[in-house]
Amino acid sequence: MNRRTFLKNTLIGSGALALPGFIPSVRAAGSDRKPAELKLCSQEGRIPGGSLKEKVANLQKYGCAGIEFGGNPANRVAEIKSTLKGTGLKVAALCWGSQKGDLVSLDLEKRKGGIEALKSALNTAAELESNGVIYVPCFHKQSELKPAELDKILAEIFPAIGDYAKKVGSRVLIEPLNKKETFYINRLEQAATICNQLNNEGICMMGDFYHMSLEEADQTQAFVTAGKWLHHVHLATRDHRILPAQEPHSYVEGFKGLKLIGYQDFCSLECGCKKGTDPLVEVPKAFDYLRKQWDEAKV
Ligand code: MG
Repeated sequence: MNRRTFLKNTLIGSGALALPGFIPSVRAAGSDRKPAELKLCSQEGRIPGGSLKEKVANLQKYGCAGIEFGGNPANRVAEIKSTLKGTGLKVAALCWGSQKGDLVSLDLEKRKGGIEALKSALNTAAELESNGVIYVPCFHKQSELKPAELDKILAEIFPAIGDYAKKVGSRVLIEPLNKKETFYINRLEQAATICNQLNNEGICMMGDFYHMSLEEADQTQAFVTAGKWLHHVHLATRDHRILPAQEPHSYVEGFKGLKLIGYQDFCSLECGCKKGTDPLVEVPKAFDYLRKQWDEAKV
């Protein structure tokens, strides 16, 4: 299918899904909502340790609640389950990515393959009882389409993907990225618009403090706008994407937003460790700093 045929055959212009005009609902703090919890965790690679067992032991020592894995660790399900058994740690999310933009490709074979790959990751996420699969529609250079055209493709493919995710017991987590990494979905409000429009519990979203620091004017409001669709958070500093506390960066405004929506899911480290510093010392310091910042976030 070429671009012209695509434009003709899709919903563009029909007004069937007027995403740009949709105003996401803003959820205020509700009296019926459980108080938010700070459940700290980390991507596997960030935690010191020579094996998964050692990393999990360290996370327990640091008072964490979970661990995040990269890609689709289908061939590690048994290892992960047996290592986590009895530790109290849960699988936070699978950081899956964009599959080279295949799901939003005009090449329908590629698109089909991308959807199958995401479904496979959703199966793994469900098996691991994780909170979902992190998905980015496309990074720069992975799509030549315009945002409105990409909106239409997502509107076409997401209902079935969301239904599949619900059926297997998982969810897609759309991740907004800053403009240096993608031209499509840079702010939480944009992902929330898609979630609201689809209104499918299998299609949810996340927020990443690194990207948000570059794109959001108001971090509290960004999380409030994401509201009930928000099911994962990444933590890093704005300038060098290193551990919280390794360079000046406040999480308080964002944490206020998480408190306002009664956030119950994980906040996970996705960052480096400043060159020349020791992760065994710095990682626990980062978690302590985040706990302090959480306490400072008064709502
Ligand atoms: Mg991230």
